[in-house]
Amino acid sequence: MAKKYRVVFNRETCIGALACNAVAPEVWELADDGKVDLKGGTKREDGKFELIIDEAQLGQNKEAADSCPVYAIVIEEVEEGG
Ligand code: SF4
Repeated sequence: MAKKYRVVFNRETCIGALACNAVAPEVWELADDGKVDLKGGTKREDGKFELIIDEAQLGQNKEAADSCPVYAIVIEEVEEGG
């Protein structure tokens, strides 16, 4: 059973340390303002960005989350079904 995960990015908190970009550049793209953008992510009402990923993408994003010095990246497991 393939699990899904939700990557939540608080761009307000991001200080542009680029640790995430170093470990997963295809997801954490360098932006013009020196911060990063969560590629393919959508902006939520609370101002954070989120992206649903599968298990294959979990490793590198977990590494990105762990490497972020200001904890701007959080990964949650998505509950399946009701
Ligand atoms: S590691 Fe954290 S602070 Fe640095 S660019 Fe990535 S999200 Fe922003």
